[in-house]
Amino acid sequence: SGSHGHIAHADATASDGGHALSEVVPKKKKLVLLGTGWAGMSFLKNLNNPTYEVEIVSPRNFFVFTPLLPSVTCGKVEARSIAEPIRNIIIKKNVDISFSEAECVKIDPQNKKIYCRATIDSHSKGEEEFAVDYDYLIIAVGAQVNTFNTPGVMENCHFLKEIDDAQKIRKNVIESFEKASLPSLSDEERKKILHFVIVGGGPTGVEFAAELHDFVNEDVVKLYPKVKDLVKITLLEATDHILNMFDKRITNFAENKFGRDGIDVKLGSMVTGINENEISTKARGNGKTSSTPYGMVLWSTGIGPRPLIKEFMKQIGQGNRRALATDEWLRVEGFDNIYALGDCATINQRKVMEDIAEIFRKADKDNSGTLTVKEFQETLDDICERYPQVELYLKNKQKRNIVDLVKEAKGDAAKQSMELNIEEFKAALSEVDSQMKNLPATAQVANQQGAYLAKCFNRMEECEKNPEGPPRFRGTGHHRFHPFRYRHLGQFAPLGGEQTAAELPGDWVSIGHSSQWLWYSVYASKQVSWRTRALVVSDWLRRFIFGRDTSG
Ligand code: FAD
Ligand code: MG
Ligand code: MG
Ligand code: MG
Ligand code: MG
Repeated sequence: SGSHGHIAHADATASDGGHALSEVVPKKKKLVLLGTGWAGMSFLKNLNNPTYEVEIVSPRNFFVFTPLLPSVTCGKVEARSIAEPIRNIIIKKNVDISFSEAECVKIDPQNKKIYCRATIDSHSKGEEEFAVDYDYLIIAVGAQVNTFNTPGVMENCHFLKEIDDAQKIRKNVIESFEKASLPSLSDEERKKILHFVIVGGGPTGVEFAAELHDFVNEDVVKLYPKVKDLVKITLLEATDHILNMFDKRITNFAENKFGRDGIDVKLGSMVTGINENEISTKARGNGKTSSTPYGMVLWSTGIGPRPLIKEFMKQIGQGNRRALATDEWLRVEGFDNIYALGDCATINQRKVMEDIAEIFRKADKDNSGTLTVKEFQETLDDICERYPQVELYLKNKQKRNIVDLVKEAKGDAAKQSMELNIEEFKAALSEVDSQMKNLPATAQVANQQGAYLAKCFNRMEECEKNPEGPPRFRGTGHHRFHPFRYRHLGQFAPLGGEQTAAELPGDWVSIGHSSQWLWYSVYASKQVSWRTRALVVSDWLRRFIFGRDTSG
């Protein structure tokens, strides 16, 4: 209650020119959150500051545990098991939170207002539109599929982004087998119907291919014995390898396993168009084109910005970017009260070289114009926190420590003096900015960003009292919190046949059945509620015991 009183007082003094009205209840600050996906859910789960009034706007009144979406496509897990109603999450909070099932269609940062359209099906009314005022806006709307404007993709392909998509795929897969089993068809027609094509060799495409292959081998062979030999699964990848964001060992293992499984992996194969019957490709090397009949295509080649974000970027002069740029505190560049996180945003990491003079000045505590190794070493933690690329650089050059860096910067002169002037300091850090990488568009990043931002909002009053924050490098301007830091906890690639590849921090790679059990336990433990956890685990057990449910 101490901090509460402080805020009441601060508000009163601000609005009444110093005449204390400390008994007046302060007007709650309005915080508007767009989206109920990974970033939004994580923010909500971690927010516990009752001094805000929170309004959520999202066309989806539930959270989806996306890593298990591929498992829904072939019936290993039920759709409802991986969805958690957002109102279940809200109700447990001591914070004043409301929810509107609507999509935001426009952001007006000058007037601190957003415009929304209700997405609830309504027979009596047409589209319901409304505006919402905010003090703080948190944009967590995710991204949408990217077709790269390839003709026919929107009309003829399946996608795997939402629960509905997974259910449609599941229905379609089962119907393909029913259709192909009808007596009137030729073998040619059956083959076409049972040709499943996956475009994109990223984690989602690969996992779907593996799910489908397992489904065919475990269930179809028993249920549809006449058509089982006519099934073909093709995976088209435009680059030289599938899973190219993973360790080489995993890529190799996956390509070999798919080869043995009879999944036709076509590398360097770009899709140029799709019509109702055929998918056309062009080989990257020799430019050879070909067209193949298909029954079903899953398009899974990556993501692009939603129309709302494209429009907003245009409005605020961010132009034609792939995602909304924020600073390391997740604030949209140029705005103090708008935050963006998850797949719709990307952090504009500051370059060391842009701030090198200031870094040097702060490190040089005795103002001598040179840095001793000790001075350098003492500021290194702060530098690494503000500029994560420095830590990456030092890690990648494993044997290097600060003394080696200094020696290299000074060349032969090292023996005479271990102090650096600004030019030598620049030389020592000249390569670190090349280590900068954008964070991947993953649930892991969105989840950590949501939790980080909630913690900032939880501590907002405390930090307003102490606006300078901890004595860190802050680049230009002052910031109240430590910048967001991502901790990579590893990633999984389920490859079918109860085998999973796991890439864990510290270069650990593990592939096989044991990692499959790790996968089961991690994904069970990551569930947002005990309800979904119980549902998911019982789905897994049900499948082990009874096989998949194939009623489409
Ligand atoms: P989302 O989770 O997509 O949430 C966006 C939210 O915004 C949704 O609630 C949406 O309804 C809402 N919204 C959309 N438009 C508007 C609007 N105009 N106004 C208001 N709200 C709006 N990542 C991993 O780390 N590990 C995995 O194993 C993994 N597997 C995946 C499997 C699949 C099939 C998919 C599709 C993704 C997977 N991902 C995985 C990636 C992960 O799901 C995303 O990175 C993550 O969902 C991003 O979170 P987000 O909150 O930014 O967006
Ligand atoms: Mg979200
Ligand atoms: Mg989600
Ligand atoms: Mg992002
Ligand atoms: Mg000095």
